[in-house]
Amino acid sequence: GSLLAAERLRKAYGPTLALDGAEFSIHPGEVVAVMGPSGSGKSTLLHCLAGIVTPDSGTITYDGRELSAMGDARRSALRRSEFGFVFQFGQLVPELTCVENVALPLRLNGTPRKEAERAALGWMERLEVDDLAKQRPGEVSGGQGQRVAVARALVTGPRVVFADEPTGALDSLNGERVMELLTEAARSTNAAVVLVTHEARVAAYSDREIVVRDGKSRDMERAL
Ligand code: ADP
Ligand code: ADP
Repeated sequence: GSLLAAERLRKAYGPTLALDGAEFSIHPGEVVAVMGPSGSGKSTLLHCLAGIVTPDSGTITYDGRELSAMGDARRSALRRSEFGFVFQFGQLVPELTCVENVALPLRLNGTPRKEAERAALGWMERLEVDDLAKQRPGEVSGGQGQRVAVARALVTGPRVVFADEPTGALDSLNGERVMELLTEAARSTNAAVVLVTHEARVAAYSDREIVVRDGKSRDMERAL
C-alpha cells in the first residue's frame, strides 16, 4: 500500500483556493514529482503532506495513520524522526559550519555531538561535500550548499524526503548533479521523495509525476 496518501484536499487562503480536491500517493522508496505552473498549489500540497499546513478538508494518511487525527506534538515528532526537508534556498544556519548544519537534526533528536558529526560527515562524503565540513554556508557555492542541505535531510534516515524546488536557484549543471545525488542517496536508503518542481528536466529524475492545476491534482497511478 501507500506510505503517504492524500484524498480530496481543500485549502483556502482567504478568497484564494490553493487546493481544490487534490490527491496524492507515494510508495516506500518511490520518487514522485509534483509538477504544475507557479501558483497551482504545489507548495501547499507539499506543506499539507508534511503536516506543516492543515488542510480545510480531506484526508492525509501516513503509514496507516490519519495525520489530522494526531496532535501537534505527535505530528512534529513525526516530522523530526521520519521526514527530511530540502528547500530552494536559505535553509542552512549561517552561524554553524556545514558539518554542524548536517548534524543539527540528530543533535535536536538528542544524539551526542561526536556521534552526530561522525554520521554527518558520512553523509557529506556521499554527497561529495565532506571537504567543506568546516566552512560556513556563506563560504560555499549554491550547488555545494544544496548538497549540504541534502545531506542534512538524509542524516536522520527519513522515510520521506520533501524537496520543494531543490534546484530552483541553481544552474542546470549543478541542478542535475544535486538531483543525481539526491535520488541516488534516497534510493540507497529506500526513502521516498516528494519532489516539487516546475521543470521537466528535474522531474525526469522521478519514477512518476503528479500534475497540479488550479489546486486540483490527479494521481495517475490510482486513475489507471
Ligand atoms: P505553487 O507552489 O504551485 O507555486 P502555492 O501552493 O505556493 O503554489 O500557492 C497556491 C496559491 O495559494 C497561490 O495563489 C498562492 O499565492 C496562494 N498561497 C499559498 N500560500 C499562501 C499563504 N500562506 N497565504 C496566502 N496565499 C497563499
Ligand atoms: P514556492 O516558490 O515554493 O511556490 P512561494 O514563494 O510561493 O513558494 O511561497 C513561499 C512561502 O510563502 C510559502 O510558505 C507559502 O505558503 C507562502 N505564500 C505563498 N504565496 C503567498 C501569499 N500570496 N501570501 C502569503 N504567503 C504566501
